Amino acid sequence: MTAAKEPSFRDSVDLMFNRAVALMDLEPGLEEKIRVCNATYTVRFGVRLRGQIHTFTGYRSVHSEHMEPVKGGIRFAMGVNQDEVEALAALMTYKCALVEAPFGGSKGGLRIDPRQWDEHELERITRRFAYELIKRDLINPSQNVPAPDMGTSEREMAWIADQYKRMNTTDINARACVTGKPINAGGIQGRTEATGRGVQYALQEFFRHPEDVKLANLSGKLDGKRVVIQGLGNVGYHAAKFLSEEDGCIITAIVEHDGALINEKGLNIEEVRNWIGKHAGVKGFPDAEYVPEGAKVLEKECDILIPAAMEGVTNITNAANINASLIIEAANGPVTAGADQILREKGCVIIPDMFANAGGVTVSYFEWVKNLSHIRFGRMGRRQEESRHQLVVDELERLSGDKNLGWTLSPDFKQRYLRGAGELELVRSGLDDTMRAAYQSMRDVWHGRDEVTDLRTAAYLVSIGKVAASYRALGL
Ligand code: NAD
Repeated sequence: MTAAKEPSFRDSVDLMFNRAVALMDLEPGLEEKIRVCNATYTVRFGVRLRGQIHTFTGYRSVHSEHMEPVKGGIRFAMGVNQDEVEALAALMTYKCALVEAPFGGSKGGLRIDPRQWDEHELERITRRFAYELIKRDLINPSQNVPAPDMGTSEREMAWIADQYKRMNTTDINARACVTGKPINAGGIQGRTEATGRGVQYALQEFFRHPEDVKLANLSGKLDGKRVVIQGLGNVGYHAAKFLSEEDGCIITAIVEHDGALINEKGLNIEEVRNWIGKHAGVKGFPDAEYVPEGAKVLEKECDILIPAAMEGVTNITNAANINASLIIEAANGPVTAGADQILREKGCVIIPDMFANAGGVTVSYFEWVKNLSHIRFGRMGRRQEESRHQLVVDELERLSGDKNLGWTLSPDFKQRYLRGAGELELVRSGLDDTMRAAYQSMRDVWHGRDEVTDLRTAAYLVSIGKVAASYRALGL
C-alpha cells in the first residue's frame, strides 16, 4: 500500500515526533530516551493443527515504561511485523499521555490471517501466544495490559484473561491483565463501542469551535456533513453508526477490503454491516453503487474523511488527490508523514490518531480500574442519587400544588432526571470528558503558539511534554 519512497510506519511516527520536538526545549538525551522503543520481544511457537505443526510469529513491543503498566492492543493480521508493532507502541505512549491514562505504551501482534482458521483453532493459537507472553510478564495486570486491535475482539481477550488466570491461580487481580473483555468475563459496559464513540465525541468537540471548523473550510454543525469512511470493523462501524444515527451525518461512501459502496443519499450502516456479516464483503449490496477499486474512493469529494481500517492508506501517491476538508484518523497511522505534509499544504485539517482513536484506551483504563476495585461503576451511588432526585421532584410537585401554580413537570423530564447513572452512562460521561479535555489541551497549543499550525504537532507537544515531566520526576 505504501509507495516505495515512503518512510516505514515507524520512521513516519518518528518524523512527526521530530517535527514537534524541534519546537521544544528538551534537555539533551531526553528526547532520544522518549523516542526510542525500550524493547521488542519476538516469539515463534508451534501449534499442532489439522494434523501438522504450524509455526506462528508474534511480537510484543514496549515503547516506554515511564508509567506502568504499559498498555496497547494485540493485532492479528498477516502484515504484522516488528516495525509496525514498534510504531503502534510509540503511538500508545503519546496517546496515553495525551488523554491522561496512566500507562506507558506497548503493542503486540501475531502474523496470522484469522479468517483462515476455525474458532477452536484460533482459541488454541491465541492461548499459546498468550502463554508465551504471560510467562515473560508481557501480559500482567501491573506490568503489561493488552486490549483488542485489528483482527481481535472481546472473544480473544476472554481467552487471554482465562489463560492468565490458569497460570496465576492466586492472583486476585487476574482479570485486570487484559481489557476489552466481554461483560461476563470482567469487561465494562461501553468498551466495544468506545473507540468509535470517541471518534464521535472528538468530532462533536471539534464542531463546538466555529473558528476551528472554519480552518477546515467548513461551517455549521455535524448535521448534514457528508462522510466517507474506510473500514467497517469495530472502530469504523461504531463511528459511522453514531455519526449517522445521532448526529445527522450522511455516510456517502464506505470503503472495505473488497471494494467500496457509494450512495449520495446516505448508506444505512446497520444494513451494510449485516451484509458484510453474511457475504464477507460489501460487493453485491443493493441500494448503492459498487466500486471494485476501493482505495480510489478515498479521493471522493466529502466534508469528512474517516480512515478507520489500517495504516498508510493516505500516502504520497494519493494525498494530492484527497478531496476532504477534514480528516479524522480513526485508525492508527492512516496518513503517512509525507501525506501529512501534502495535506497540510492543501489546507486540510487532520484530527490526529493519538487523539481521535483514544476512546478505546480511555475506556480500557476504566475497565482496568473496575477490575482492580472489584466493583461495577455506579453500584454504590446510583439508587442514592435516584432517591435524592425523587426528593426534589416531590418537593417541586408539592410546591406547585400548594401554591396553585398550575405547572407540572413533563413526564419526559421526570423520567430522565430521576434515572441515576449506571455503568454505561458513567463510562460515556468519563469518555466525553476525556475527549473534551484532551482536545482543549491540543487546541490551546494549536492556537496559542504561532509556530504550531496543525493539530498533530500540538498533540505531540502536549504528550511529549507530559512524558518528559514523568521521566524528570523519576530522576532521569
Ligand atoms: P477491525 O479488524 O475490527 O476492522 C478493520 C476493518 O477494516 C475490517 O472491516 C476490514 O475488512 C477493513 N479493511 C481491512 N483492509 C482494508 C482495506 N485495504 N481497505 C478497506 N478496508 C479494509 O479493526 P479495528 O479494531 O476496527 O481497528 C481499525 C483501526 O483502528 C486500526 O488501525 C487499529 O489500530 C485502530 N484502533 C482500534 C482500536 C480498537 O479499540 N479496536 C483502538 C484504537 C485504534
